[in-house]
Amino acid sequence: MRSIATLRILSAPPVRWALAAMGVVLLAGVFVTRPREGGTVAPPRTGSAESRCEEALTLVTAEVRWPVRCRWRLPDDGLQGQAYPPPKGPPPYDDPRVEIYVDPGQDAAGLAHTIAHELGHMHHTRDPRFVPEWLAARGLDPGTRDEVWTEDYAEVFATLFSPPAGRWRAPTPMPDPAALADLRARFFADA
Ligand SMILES: [Zn+2]
Repeated sequence: MRSIATLRILSAPPVRWALAAMGVVLLAGVFVTRPREGGTVAPPRTGSAESRCEEALTLVTAEVRWPVRCRWRLPDDGLQGQAYPPPKGPPPYDDPRVEIYVDPGQDAAGLAHTIAHELGHMHHTRDPRFVPEWLAARGLDPGTRDEVWTEDYAEVFATLFSPPAGRWRAPTPMPDPAALADLRARFFADA
């Protein structure tokens, strides 16, 4: 049974945001990615999924603080990757990591973007106290749903720390270069 003190902690705003952020990470990818299927011939799987990720990781300019585990994407995979962020807790959160499901047809820059997107999710779960500031900086309503602002955050992160390719996979407007520079200085100075 939870004590009153525990309930107070769980309902404190930073903790609520943390729990909400952790909760949506697993759901978030569903809205972002779909496997590229549809009757086309699958591209060849040259090398290994791990070697593809190693190559792509050289294009990611953020510090990679967590293990990145890669495997080929399976036909029924609806995600490009998932983030299993800290803090520690019941599995899978006791094993912080990024998992990437590599599309054989994805080039290194695209894969780097996918990896950086998941790393962005790892970052926004670290300290949720910034959330109101993030929403204001992005011109988003204070009541913006978690699955919207977390995708916005992860895409800003991916845009800043992977090769430019015009990719934008969030349900929010992509920031212009000046706004990106401002966001980088304010929120990602230690990334
Ligand atoms: Zn995402």
